[in-house]
Amino acid sequence: MSHKPSESLRRDIERWLREFLLNPTEPADQRERARELGGLPLYADMGGLVVLRPDGTVFTYDWEDSKSEATDDAWKVVALTTSREKYPRLRELLPERTVSALDCAACTGTGSILRTATCWKCLGLGWHEPEAVGVAG
Ligand SMILES: [Zn+2]
Repeated sequence: MSHKPSESLRRDIERWLREFLLNPTEPADQRERARELGGLPLYADMGGLVVLRPDGTVFTYDWEDSKSEATDDAWKVVALTTSREKYPRLRELLPERTVSALDCAACTGTGSILRTATCWKCLGLGWHEPEAVGVAG
């Protein structure tokens, strides 16, 4: 996944980040990490935080180790699908569904389990590539 944000989306991410940093209703620890990492928090759980920088790179931050690192595509997709209601324009950065993709059976194509948890089979996309590659149907 090599999607780079468009110029207008990059400006939006910068603006959302500024708003996040100034918003006293957002968690203080997330605002601190957002300032430090220069990225907008998109996903947080007990293990860590995932932030998106305006250039489209995604970093995870580990609460326990106080370490951050560039993340893999799976976390990037999870962060983007988790936050798409809050920031609908981030859809631009998600992979496009391919013609061979199947609706995800685990979440019946909704991308979430019990409406709250992100589906880990499809990373919240609601579809995934067929796994049985090369098997004649
Ligand atoms: Zn799913």
